Formats: sequence, structure tokens, C-alpha cells
Amino acid sequence: MRMVLTQELEVWRAEIREFLDTELLKENAFNPEFDDAPEQWAIAVEFSKKIAAKGWIGLTWPEEYGGKGLTPVANQILLEELYAADAPLINSVGIFLAAGTILVGGSEEQKKRLLPDIANMRTLWAEGLTEPEAGSDLGSLQTKAVREGDEWVITGQKAFTSWGPMSDVLYVAARTATDVASSNAISIFVVDLRSPGVTLHPMRNYGGGVQSSTYLDHVRVPKTSLIGEEGKGWQYIMRAFYASGTVEPIYAMQESRLRDLIAHCKTVEGKLDDPHVQADLAELAGIIQTQRLMAYEIIGNNANGRKTPWDGGIQQIAAKEYEPLFAQIYDRVLGPTSQLRSGSSYAPLNGKPEAWYRQSFANHAGGTSQLKRMVLATRGLGLAR
Ligand SMILES: Cc1cc2nc3c(=O)[nH]c(=O)nc-3n(C[C@H](O)[C@H](O)[C@H](O)COP(=O)(O)OP(=O)(O)OC[C@H]3O[C@@H](n4cnc5c(N)ncnc54)[C@H](O)[C@@H]3O)c2cc1C
Repeated sequence: MRMVLTQELEVWRAEIREFLDTELLKENAFNPEFDDAPEQWAIAVEFSKKIAAKGWIGLTWPEEYGGKGLTPVANQILLEELYAADAPLINSVGIFLAAGTILVGGSEEQKKRLLPDIANMRTLWAEGLTEPEAGSDLGSLQTKAVREGDEWVITGQKAFTSWGPMSDVLYVAARTATDVASSNAISIFVVDLRSPGVTLHPMRNYGGGVQSSTYLDHVRVPKTSLIGEEGKGWQYIMRAFYASGTVEPIYAMQESRLRDLIAHCKTVEGKLDDPHVQADLAELAGIIQTQRLMAYEIIGNNANGRKTPWDGGIQQIAAKEYEPLFAQIYDRVLGPTSQLRSGSSYAPLNGKPEAWYRQSFANHAGGTSQLKRMVLATRGLGLAR
């Protein structure tokens, strides 16, 4: 199979590269999921506002909601370039999960009110799905929302909330009924994180990022905080993850890391002549290209209204499992110094591989690979639950 971009898309890619060359200094390239010290966060906010000012946040959304009405392929190219450059784009929860939910389920009024604020980076969202007893099994979540007059009263505990202290609002999945199946009992709310009754307890993970335990104690929100219809939250969450029609291009980030690795190996005499090193580098290239092809299969199918075999589940499993494998092979090529942290004069590539290795295991967000296998078996292969 040969993938060729149209002339128009090549011009688009060149435009993004030019923007990144001008607006992103090398030292400002980092992943705000793991590097979120206040000075880094300030850089990430400033950079993300520049992306927003270009109108590139909601590239595939209709123009009346702050988008550009472009194709998922155009959006994929943008994301590939951002990932390849390690560009610190923030608000992924707003851009993907929240906007996806609003687009598939929100009322016209909500689309006009909430989406432009995401497109302009005025509202930063955190995600409140997981709970202490409801991670993979999200349907067993216990946070409750009870209607009282013109308000909803929300009580419960959320776990692993990324970017909580830096965000404005929380995307909350809460139970609004107890006597029906979870698929009809969960609703989605937008909750101001400064509301009385909201408390965040941040904890640092081994990848370097911060997640919070989020406590919601009788938090009162106006009835307009319910996104879409009551009881449809489950369907919205499932559809929102696919609403942009794109696939997270981890392969683009890995490709740029592979280029750095080859450049580094060239500085070590004889390294690239070692057949083991050559085999490992070839394997890394294979991991990258496999994911790229799977991503474009899904994007092409989405764009043409076709179903991807097994609901595209294999791509999700591969992306999750290739991340640590990629890091391990990468470190094997570098040798023992790959485990030295930045700051050590012996650490190759400024110690970044050491951090990448740790971060490669913090990839549970959006569901673990074991869970994705269960979904592939039941939904993709149609096997019994
Ligand atoms: C870095 C990071 C950031 C995150 N950010 C957020 C966030 O912003 N907002 C949010 O809501 N959540 C967030 N999460 C939570 C994430 O979505 C959950 O960790 C994930 O859904 C798994 O849930 P759990 O941790 O409760 O594990 P569990 O569901 O308890 O699973 C534990 C283990 O059992 C396995 N397992 C569970 N069920 C099955 C099954 N049926 N078959 C086979 N194996 C199974 C899992 O694969 C896993 O290995 C984040 C997690 C991480 C690590």
C-alpha cells in the first residue's frame, strides 16, 4: 500500500511546520502531561493560545461553533506535526472528550456557548470519569447527581484527575438514575472547579505528571450544566472518543525520537555497524509504520462511512503496548546510560530517554490494553461478555 497526500495537504503540512519553526523554541518542546511545573505550564498556555489564535483547535468542527470544517485527515496531519515537535498543547480533555460530547449530544445552545471557549482556549477542562471503584468498569461509577429545583446536586469522588488544579471546569460522569442499566443511568455535567464543595488532592505519578483525587461534596450546579440529555452519558462518552475521526499519532512522536536516536548513534564510533543495533532500529521503524498504517485505515474508513474491522480495537491495543516496547528497545540501543536522568553529564539525549521510559508505562488513560482486548473480543469479534 502506498499513501500519498494531495498537494493541498502537503501545503497544509508545510504551513504547520513553518508555524512550529517560528513559534516553538527547541527548549519549549515538552509534554505537558508529564512536565507541568508552573514555568512550563505558562509556556504551554502561551503556545496553546497561539494555536487557538490560528483557528487550529477545532479544525473539524463546523465553523459556527468556532471550528474550520476541515477533514479528519487535515486534523491528523496537524496532530502528527504537533506530536513530532513535542509541542506543548494543553486542554486535550476539552478539545477531544468535552468537545466530542458536546458535538454528538449537546443542545444547539450548548454548542454555541461551550465550543468557542474551547476553540479559543478560554476554558480548560479536566476529566472526571474514573472513581476509586470504577476504572476499567466505568459503568459501576457511584457519583450521584440529584435534581433539586433548577439545580443538580452532585456528590462523589473521582480518581486520577489530570490537570485538575490548572483547569477551569470538570467533565463529570454521574449517576442520575438507580433503577435502570448503567447504559441509561449516567449523565454528563460540566462543573466549575471553583464551586463550593469541590476539593482536589493532587499526587505525582511515576511518569512525572500529577493526578488528583477529586471530592465533590453536594456541589450545586445550574440545570444547564447537564450536557445533552439525561441518561445518555454512556453513549456520549463512547461516541466522543471517536468524534474527531482522528487517531492519537503517538507514532509521529516516536518517529522524531527515532531520528534523534539515529543521529546520536552516529556520534558513537562503530555503533551503527553493530547488527544488533541495526535490528533494533529496524524494529522501531516497524513499530512506527505499523501504527501509522492502522491509523490511516481508521481515518479513511471514518471519512468514507465504512466500518474498520473489529471496530479499530487492534490499533488501540497496539498503541498502548508498543509504547513501553518502543521505550525498552530504544534504551537497549542506547545501553545502560539510558537510565541516567537529565542533569547527568553521561546521560544521552539530555536524559530524555530515562523519562520517556517511565512515562511509557503511564498509559492507562482512556482504558488499559487488557480492557481494550475485552472490548475487541466482545464488540469487535462479537463474543459473549
Ligand atoms: C497517567 C494517568 C492519567 C489519567 N488521567 C485521568 C483523568 O484525567 N481522568 C479520569 O477520569 N481518569 C484518568 N485516569 C484513569 C484511567 O482512565 C484508569 O487508570 C483506567 O481506566 C484503569 O482504571 P483503574 O486504574 O481503576 O484500574 P482497574 O480498572 O482497577 O484495573 C486494574 C488492572 O486490572 C485489569 N483489568 C480490569 N478489568 C479487566 C478485565 N475485564 N479484563 C482484563 N483485565 C482487566 C486492568 O487492565 C488493570 O491492569 C488516568 C490514569 C493514568 C495512569
